Amino acid sequence: MNYLQERILKDGTVIDEKILKIDSFLNHQIDPKVMHEIQSNFFDYFKSREITKVLTIEASGIAPAIMVASHFQVPMLFAKKSEPSTLAATGKYSTRVHSFTKDKDSDVIISKEYLNADDKVLIIDDFLANGEASLGLIDLVNQAGAEVVGVGICVEKSFQPGRQRLLEAGVDLYSICRIASLADNKVTFVDEDAE
Ligand code: 5GP
Repeated sequence: MNYLQERILKDGTVIDEKILKIDSFLNHQIDPKVMHEIQSNFFDYFKSREITKVLTIEASGIAPAIMVASHFQVPMLFAKKSEPSTLAATGKYSTRVHSFTKDKDSDVIISKEYLNADDKVLIIDDFLANGEASLGLIDLVNQAGAEVVGVGICVEKSFQPGRQRLLEAGVDLYSICRIASLADNKVTFVDEDAE
């Protein structure tokens, strides 16, 4: 069992069969020790790949993404859920994402200034559920003509369709924790040795 799995069992709260709350160390209060473990897991998996930028979506992806970007020594870029008045005249890439936790659509944007056709992008997010956020970020990278190197997820809920959708899109997906079920108020992890 890795450190993130241990912390989920110790401090996570199962809200219902589909939602896990880990506000005490990742989604609200952030534990730097967890962040350190997360970035070293992602670094180990993707270290042989050329990466020029780490991309995430605000807000909860930002903490793990900046840690990973720091290790790869590349910039971290996050897609914004509202358009800032400071957006450059060069314009924006925009895509519509359905939020799993808020159950609403929003247009997320990145400035064209910060993503170029020669970028090799590692996408990082906190959770993977239906894959909407990751697929939206992939769409933004594609609009820029850049390359998606892979997607790194802290907590994948493997009983939801996100994993399958990303694999079907040909993505190199790496998840630190894979949850098989949140039924009966209990977190059960995927037994990867048995797969
Ligand atoms: P997806 O876009 O894959 O459907 O959902 C991923 C996004 O929804 C993540 O960025 C995350 O913020 C949020 N999310 C999905 N499932 C959960 C969950 O069980 N707990 C929390 N805290 N956030 C979740």
